[in-house]
Amino acid sequence: MIVILVKNVTDGQMDQVLARIAEAHLTSHISKGEETTVIGVVGAHLPPDLPDAIERLPGVSRIMRISKSYKLPSREFKPSNTVVEVGDVRIGDGGLVVMAGPCSIESREQLLATALAVKKAGAQVLRGGAFKPRTSPYSFRGMGEEGLKILADVGAETDLKVVTEVMTIDQVELVAQYADILQIGTRNMQNYQLLEEVGRIDRPCVLKRGMSATIEEWLLSAEYIMGKGNKQVILCERGIRTFETATRNTLDLSSLPVVKRMSHLPVICDPSHATGKWYLVPPMSLAALGAGADGLLIEVHPDPDHALCDGAQSLTLENFSTLMDKLVAMMDLMNRP
Ligand code: PEP
Ligand code: MN
Repeated sequence: MIVILVKNVTDGQMDQVLARIAEAHLTSHISKGEETTVIGVVGAHLPPDLPDAIERLPGVSRIMRISKSYKLPSREFKPSNTVVEVGDVRIGDGGLVVMAGPCSIESREQLLATALAVKKAGAQVLRGGAFKPRTSPYSFRGMGEEGLKILADVGAETDLKVVTEVMTIDQVELVAQYADILQIGTRNMQNYQLLEEVGRIDRPCVLKRGMSATIEEWLLSAEYIMGKGNKQVILCERGIRTFETATRNTLDLSSLPVVKRMSHLPVICDPSHATGKWYLVPPMSLAALGAGADGLLIEVHPDPDHALCDGAQSLTLENFSTLMDKLVAMMDLMNRP
């Protein structure tokens, strides 16, 4: 349910509404717009007489029910696009934010060479995994905290924001010490305790779509994070499992405009994990831009043939730069800033 307050609501009136909501063991999420303030009310059980009771309180303009299972990420709750700000990088404001870098941080040299090149080509965020979820326990599983240190150092040196994955609840605090944006991977989209832990901290987070998750389930995962207070969620389409084997996953491009319609949150696309093949990354990046993506998450490596992880889907520095030129040309065509 959404409580829409009158324009000139007083603090006292607002407190009265919040108290009535708390009495019913429900949680309030206040959203102050330019014109009006609204309170999103969520909780397991909405007493049937509560909407009428609240509508009668002074300072309340009207009540709206949210019909969807997900509430806080829904357009009904917040009609205007959310812009997630990471310093001066703005995700969701109509521009295209490119996050690029290796699958895994392998060394300072490798990351710095990549960072300098992607920055020169126009990327604004550096990606790199330090804690890697690998299908096989015998694969390279990342450098851990040493990798995080390299990431933060190289980010500072090149003036790039950094994003990296957090896999477990007890890593959240550690990763947040080093990263500007936390990433929740496809395998953890339904790790609800991890989602809540990330929801408790004040740090933007990329929430990847589970490889077998419906869009509704994905938005419900965003609800877990937002419900604990962290509203800075960036959704990331990264491909889903289908019967097709020619690509690593099937890129569900239609999810981009679908999510834009259902949710106010920014949505980005990861064409690297979606396809698994470097030569599919440029066409799918352009397609994602065409489908309305607010950003791209792209794997780039100075020497993909020798990458410790996901070399087959990593762009060389040169190929990345060529792609960025095409993206800029397409942004112009689309009249996007
Ligand atoms: C990644 O971005 O490095 C990654 C592991 O992605 P995903 O969770 O989409 O597989
Ligand atoms: Mn990868």
